[in-house]
Amino acid sequence: MKRLIYADNAATTRLDPDALNAMVPFLTDEYGNPSQPYAFSRKPKMAIREARELIASCIGAYPEEIFFTSGGTESDNWAIKGVSFNNSQKKATITSAFEHHAILHACDSIEKLGYPVSYLQPSHEGYISEENLACVTKYNPALVSIMFANNEIGTVQPISQLCSQAHKMGALFHTDAVQVIGHLPVNVHELDVDLLSASAHKFNGPKGVGFLYLKKGVKIHSYADGGAQEHGMRAGTENVAGIVGMAAALSKNCSNMIDNSKRVKLLESILIDALNSSGIEYIRNGGSVRLPGLISLSFPGADGEAILHRLDLKGICVSTGSACNSRLTEVSHVLRAIGLDELYAKGTIRISLSSLNNEDDVVEISKAIEQIFC
Ligand code: PLP
Repeated sequence: MKRLIYADNAATTRLDPDALNAMVPFLTDEYGNPSQPYAFSRKPKMAIREARELIASCIGAYPEEIFFTSGGTESDNWAIKGVSFNNSQKKATITSAFEHHAILHACDSIEKLGYPVSYLQPSHEGYISEENLACVTKYNPALVSIMFANNEIGTVQPISQLCSQAHKMGALFHTDAVQVIGHLPVNVHELDVDLLSASAHKFNGPKGVGFLYLKKGVKIHSYADGGAQEHGMRAGTENVAGIVGMAAALSKNCSNMIDNSKRVKLLESILIDALNSSGIEYIRNGGSVRLPGLISLSFPGADGEAILHRLDLKGICVSTGSACNSRLTEVSHVLRAIGLDELYAKGTIRISLSSLNNEDDVVEISKAIEQIFC
């Protein structure tokens, strides 16, 4: 039987077994609604409180600054719309052209409602600089939203500098940290960000749950109206099992972060060395400060989608930077934003490794790529 080699960890990750074990009671016997006052609901209520405390401690926040959501998409939408709808002057939002669609499409929505949005262009390596941001002071923005690390090319932004520049402009600062939380150390109070989005399934937690960090004192519009959950800001009965699983996964990932990162970087260098010695022509996208294990490769004149399918036949899961519609190959907005030549952009794949990968996996991936090109 073909062995599965999962190398698409930026798309989603495997649920951690400890996270699963922590979830099971709340999917079975402990099904009480955490909002009910009777004794049977005490355990789920307590579990949510403990999860909030644990998550807050992992990112240097206060527990009351953590708001549970259904994942990264909701957290991003809430940040963009929540700040806009709280600003009656309809002040602008500044973001970048290579954000995740959860940000870009939320920005489309607010633009249709008359809130101006300005899009910064990243450098060829995928950086947004303080200087880029300072150039748009004239927009007098209410919010600056720049992703912590790009999900396609992995470049990590100078978030602390961008945040202080946003504050100099009198704006709040949000970062989509979906690819970063659980993988790189983050302390929200040290960074001084006002809002931050995270998603559990990117750090070995369950799908369909995430959180928005909202700095104490920062006012935004509520996300959903109804019950009093999440301090009345996001109504709806809590996903207790999901929240508990997310906290367990994040805490484990944060404890193992240094070792995981070392392991993934080692696997990454084995893969890159093997590709280099194969003589295949390619470039690696992204800057030198990037997410461990995220490898965006462009092969000139190739078709990323075809490479993906050839690797799939060998049981290897990766992503591509382009997608075929009926006749054309559409290059992703990220590769367009960094100005990658079409010849390269169309032949782009993203390999994203995790600490669950091993040396055999990366050797097989490099061999499979060699077989495609040689
Ligand atoms: N933001 C980034 C940078 C992402 O990579 C993703 C998912 O790929 C999201 C937001 C959306 O997160 P979710 O899948 O939890 O809705």
